[in-house]
Amino acid sequence: MILLNLLLASSLAQAQPKFCSYSYSVWNARERRSEGPFRVTKLYTELEPYERGPRGCSVCDEEQVAVRLSNGVSFKVCAAFVEAFRSGLEAAILEGEVVESVVGHRPSKSRGNLDGQGRRTEFSNHAYGAALDVNEAHNGLYDFCVSWSPSCRLIKGGRYSPGQPRSFTPRSPLVRALRDRGLEWGGEIKGKQKDFMHFSPDGL
Ligand SMILES: [Zn+2]
Repeated sequence: MILLNLLLASSLAQAQPKFCSYSYSVWNARERRSEGPFRVTKLYTELEPYERGPRGCSVCDEEQVAVRLSNGVSFKVCAAFVEAFRSGLEAAILEGEVVESVVGHRPSKSRGNLDGQGRRTEFSNHAYGAALDVNEAHNGLYDFCVSWSPSCRLIKGGRYSPGQPRSFTPRSPLVRALRDRGLEWGGEIKGKQKDFMHFSPDGL
């Protein structure tokens, strides 16, 4: 019986993949354009610290899990976040939230300091499958936006129209459901950027 339990436990444990592969882009802030994609394939045992994210997640395609929602929308995220993201999205859909697009895993260097050519140098939470962008066409990323007003400057995605379906507010079913599951909304982060489509452990 003990042996059986041990065998069961080891087969349930997440097997470490032999290889790690991913394609990533780099945001050039000086030229305001994306560079890449750059393809990486290596032994999993040779991962660098910057290729590992929160809660055991990594940038590797091999560690992302495909999720398909009841409304047919699908995305990929790190195994550690599957349950929180999926159950939060399904709870919000049950409450009437319209979820038309979801992007999870998307390796890109869009954080950190700039290098000599103006490129960002650190992976974002999306790189590790630890963030979601939902309804991007109605929840843009804005700069010059300490608090929301129509004079905020749209950087990426579609125009934010609070009060309209598909644009999120603090009272939206999805914002509440994901907040209840320990995630933060990019529409409420401090500072001059607001990312209304974005959800992650720290909102960044
Ligand atoms: Zn995002």
